[in-house]
Amino acid sequence: MRVADTILDTIGNTPLVRLNRVTEGLSATVLAKVEYVNPGGSVKDRIAVRIIDAAEAEGKLRPGGTIVEPTSGNTGVGLALVAQQRGYRCIFVCPDKVGKDKIDVLRAYGAEIVITPTAVPPEHPDSYYSVSDRLAAEIEGAYKPNQYENLNGPASHYESTGPEIWRDTDGRVTHFVAGVGTGGTISGTGRFLKEVGGVTVIGADPEGSVYSGGTGRPYLVEGVGEDMWPGAYDTSVPERVIAVSDAASFDMTLRLAREEGLLVGGSSGMAVVAALEAAKDLGPDDVVVVLLPDGGRGYLGKIFNEQWMRRYGFSPVPEEERTVREVL
Ligand code: PMP
Repeated sequence: MRVADTILDTIGNTPLVRLNRVTEGLSATVLAKVEYVNPGGSVKDRIAVRIIDAAEAEGKLRPGGTIVEPTSGNTGVGLALVAQQRGYRCIFVCPDKVGKDKIDVLRAYGAEIVITPTAVPPEHPDSYYSVSDRLAAEIEGAYKPNQYENLNGPASHYESTGPEIWRDTDGRVTHFVAGVGTGGTISGTGRFLKEVGGVTVIGADPEGSVYSGGTGRPYLVEGVGEDMWPGAYDTSVPERVIAVSDAASFDMTLRLAREEGLLVGGSSGMAVVAALEAAKDLGPDDVVVVLLPDGGRGYLGKIFNEQWMRRYGFSPVPEEERTVREVL
């Protein structure tokens, strides 16, 4: 029988899919690495397994232990999935701005959620950071993965994402493009591809984030960009970091669903904008791989919602279709 022994064995080995429509006019091949097919719905399942495996091996997490992490997003889902399978208690600290749907997903896996107020500074005892530090210190057998500083994040990509791309392109990949959040994906995957094949690595970053020279001012694309420099990000890996506006990221996210059948999140749209920008100068022998971190279902009330898009000043109709709609 062709079966997986547990759901964790289905993490990784995600498909590479050629982008056919949004690439019109370009001569390079652009391939999307589709990470939403991971069982937790995102690329973050990869780091969750690696981080927990390492914590077990180092004796930081023992049977009956508790995982405590300040996260509400994809890393939370990955950790909750691994914790459920391995029998750990899981507590996530989430700021009160986090949507109910995200919290419900974490609870569905059996995780506990502690909600903290958003409107307090980091050093306040009720802040997201203070509460998670206190829980990790007070709970017997608690372990805090700290995805921003944990080098098992990039290591998981060095060992899985990078080799998969090299294998599936028969070593023909010439460029790798990924958004930068913790920096784990680009640092691990990028380092592997550079070592094995001299691949050019390009980061994608929301306009305003420090990675592309911004001040840390706010933006709406989720999961990427920062106002600080995490240890998981090896800044020597990317040759270039391209800043992408929220408007361009969301426009491409809508187009990926309508034109490529890829229902993905805003950071995927952002990464594709950067990949197409990089591909402009490339020729027919170039193969650009762009990583799409998560699916679009978590954003139905935002990017895929007309009212939400209009409220923030974005068009809910992709630019490509706008003139056609106006004529009809
Ligand atoms: N996109 C989304 C939706 C994410 O959740 C993340 C992880 N924060 C990223 C992109 C960036 O990945 P990384 O943390 O590996 O840089």
